Amino acid sequence: MKVRFWGTRGSIAKAGPSTVRFGGNTSCIEVRSNSGTLVVLDCGTGGHGLGQALMKSETKPMKGHILITHTHWDHIQGIPFFAPLFVPGNEWDIYAPQGLGQSLQETLAGQMQYTYFPVKLEGMGATIRYHDLVEGAFEIDDVSVQTHYMNHPGLTLGYRLESDGVSAVYACDHEPFSREYAKGQGPMGEQDLHHVAFLNQADLAIHDAQYTTNEYAAKMGWGHTPISCAIDMCSKAGVRRLALTHHDPMRTDDDLDVLVDEARLSLADLSSSMEVFAAAEGMVIELVGDGTKMPENASAAFSALTEAHPAILEHRVLLGVADKAHFETISQALSADGLDSIVALSADEIINQFRAHKPSLIVLDAGGAGGDMVTLCKALRALEGGADCPIILIADQEIRGGEDEGVSDWLIKPFTQEYARTRLRAWVLRTTCRWQQARLPKDETKRILALQKLGILDTESEERFDRITRIAAAAFDVPIALVSLVDTDRQWFKSCVGVDLSETPRDQAFCAHAILKDEILVVPDALLDARFADNPLVTGEARVRFYAGAPLSLADGSRVGTLCLIDTQPHNFDDRKAKLLKDLGALVEAEFTKA
Ligand SMILES: [Zn+2]
Ligand SMILES: [Zn+2]
Repeated sequence: MKVRFWGTRGSIAKAGPSTVRFGGNTSCIEVRSNSGTLVVLDCGTGGHGLGQALMKSETKPMKGHILITHTHWDHIQGIPFFAPLFVPGNEWDIYAPQGLGQSLQETLAGQMQYTYFPVKLEGMGATIRYHDLVEGAFEIDDVSVQTHYMNHPGLTLGYRLESDGVSAVYACDHEPFSREYAKGQGPMGEQDLHHVAFLNQADLAIHDAQYTTNEYAAKMGWGHTPISCAIDMCSKAGVRRLALTHHDPMRTDDDLDVLVDEARLSLADLSSSMEVFAAAEGMVIELVGDGTKMPENASAAFSALTEAHPAILEHRVLLGVADKAHFETISQALSADGLDSIVALSADEIINQFRAHKPSLIVLDAGGAGGDMVTLCKALRALEGGADCPIILIADQEIRGGEDEGVSDWLIKPFTQEYARTRLRAWVLRTTCRWQQARLPKDETKRILALQKLGILDTESEERFDRITRIAAAAFDVPIALVSLVDTDRQWFKSCVGVDLSETPRDQAFCAHAILKDEILVVPDALLDARFADNPLVTGEARVRFYAGAPLSLADGSRVGTLCLIDTQPHNFDDRKAKLLKDLGALVEAEFTKA
């Protein structure tokens, strides 16, 4: 594997006499496998030079893959200037993290609007395919790629490439999860250990090292690593060579020399054999395998590729939904994805339409199935092709045992159009939906009555609750704390610090999961949790990464809501903190008795 640096600067391009040796262009790295597979890591302004070089050297038509860590400007600004994208016949695949609120294609088109650039994204001549990624693994010809979320404002992935018996990890725009550790004043947190596992025994790690420890004190939360931490994490991971990158725009060549000297001295103190240097524009590194087997990585078990969009149009969905409101919600969810639906109402009709159209998915409700959905499921399963077609039932409550009759999934009322769309689309495409509606508590009817009797829903905010959420936010150092009450089809906030919302639909509510148990629900990183990763509160504006919720009970045992903490950064939450949150929750419960 051959690695060549075309851009090593962080944040903004910095041309001039003080950046001649290490380079002034922003992030761009060319990686070649021995058989010639071309992978480009980020396409900052360094992409211009790479593009020009490829136009001269490469046989045409050209094929390549661009892996974008995230869409901050210093990582994509070279795309409109990347010449091979303009040549008809060339084929390029562009990959970036999913869940930026808009698709990768739209984000890239945004920086090429006429105000900023004369050519539109669609005007580029090459065939370009866009791929949204989550954490996991996928293959590009002879290169295996693993992806891992970095800690950075804005969704960011790191990439681990393995080919020809060697591995290179690109972990750019990342800040240690533990601030104490980053300041040099504490141990790594659990998430940092996952990061180290991602770097495990890499032949080359290209790692964010934008700040010195001193500079970091003023740049906490900016999403970059102090050099000492990059060295510590990589040497603990058993990395063979470490290329420091994302050099601060204020850093001169001479500054970098000094920092590299210091880094080498610190490694000598640790008697580490890791080689360390600052990545420099034009530098080429050849990685040669010594025949040892690659270490296994946990994320390799999941596919990182989410399905490409056009494929969905080939599918049809059979709707046996009699309830008018649900029919509306579901058909709108399907048409938002361009999916065709076939409508059938009686059990006989549903079976006939299944035979005639061979749909990819069936959605049924009690009315549509003539009252007995489970028997109908059994009948559908017995038909030719029926064994493989997912069947989703709309139900008031989750009915246990339906799995045996072939029920694939439940949509429990109430649900939003957004939830139905995410869930149905995943079934149609046979991908994993990483957003799960909470099941309803067993005592739901009694619980709702108790909540209504409490008389707090839709009342004004009150200081007696607000002071508790303020204390919670401060004590746990999180931006958001809420007293959330889980109503029939929404969660409503009696008190809220740090967010300008009064309620959200119930199927988006983390708290709807938290009220199912007496214990505190802790979600250290929502992006890594199958229940929440595709939830719009995680992928969209609120950008929830961390959640901890203490259920709030009334005297009769009804869990009506939670006192919860939310952050846009992942957190660890130990027993001591859990106890403290529970204590604060008890204070809220005490206020309820005074209501
Ligand atoms: Zn950056
Ligand atoms: Zn960034």
